[in-house]
Amino acid sequence: MDFPFDIYDVADQLGLELKKQHPKSSDYNCPFCDGRAKLNLNVKHNVFRCNRCGENGGMIDLFCKVTGTSDRKTAYRLLAEHNGYSVTQRQARKKTVSGIKEAEKADIKNLHECYSALLNILTLSPSHKRNLLARGLSEEQIRSNMYRSVPRGEYDHIVYRLLDKSINMIGVPGFYVSDEGEMRINLHNCMGGFFVPVFNEQRQIQGMQIRFDDPFESKRKYIWLSSSEKNGGCSSGSPVQISGDIFNSEVIYVTEGPLKGQIAHHLSGKPFIAAAGVNQQKELDSLLLRICNEGKCSTIVDAFDMDDDKNEHVLRGHRNLAWLAAKYGFSPKRVTWDRKYKGIDDYLLAVRNLKGGAL
Ligand SMILES: [Zn+2]
Repeated sequence: MDFPFDIYDVADQLGLELKKQHPKSSDYNCPFCDGRAKLNLNVKHNVFRCNRCGENGGMIDLFCKVTGTSDRKTAYRLLAEHNGYSVTQRQARKKTVSGIKEAEKADIKNLHECYSALLNILTLSPSHKRNLLARGLSEEQIRSNMYRSVPRGEYDHIVYRLLDKSINMIGVPGFYVSDEGEMRINLHNCMGGFFVPVFNEQRQIQGMQIRFDDPFESKRKYIWLSSSEKNGGCSSGSPVQISGDIFNSEVIYVTEGPLKGQIAHHLSGKPFIAAAGVNQQKELDSLLLRICNEGKCSTIVDAFDMDDDKNEHVLRGHRNLAWLAAKYGFSPKRVTWDRKYKGIDDYLLAVRNLKGGAL
């Protein structure tokens, strides 16, 4: 069905606040959880999704959910009447969208090779190292997890060094081809922080997050190194961090945030899976299916943050995970701890500092 309006028109009509525009999508403040710039509207497919609360759907759903209407026919009529004349504008948008050719994501061997080579060029600043030690990681863990400070400037130089090593960067999230046809890395001087490599079960690097020193604008602490919506680039796909022998363990813990997963595994010795966010469960779903088919796991333990008493989207995350675990025949459990420690990593660190205890 060809609609006489698109999802941006719906957002305009609902008075949603635009925070950031990308070629194929835009970030708005989320009307469901108030997340700043968390609601992503994709104008190519006319769908929306909040990266914080997980609310999602098509453009008519957006209108119905925000206005509280359940009558989709009336919603459609209202939107069509209101937006009947913006055809030219919409055609112009479609043109921008189709001009960009993303690359297909490279295979895991290529990703690992490229990210390892990149990290080998970089160093970890003393202040970032102190930060990681204070979170409970050991010197050895910090070395083997290859945390590195995000460089400031000299980005082209980094790309040349990778080209010198004949590393393929096409299809590696974070790299893209500029309008002049040059390979580039999608880093900027405002991205002060450190890289958190995200590993699969074979300790191959599947993707990289950046942990910001000073979360700016949207107060986001982590972003993926990504080059989506750029020529020759692609999105990170939000891979999940795997720590420990998850295919030979009967009990597996699930938390949110790759760095948190790495720390919690180090402090407890337990196998951990960490999705990027409490409601980012697509990759988690396919991993649980693999564990169901190939692994020995019987119990999935929810170790998401303890702020579900004040945070609706965390509460939804707990429910979704229990449902997902049950879907593959695992018994879902939840571990709880003193609410004064928000994350499982904070709690484990406090316990270790007190008496060197275990989970
Ligand atoms: Zn939201």
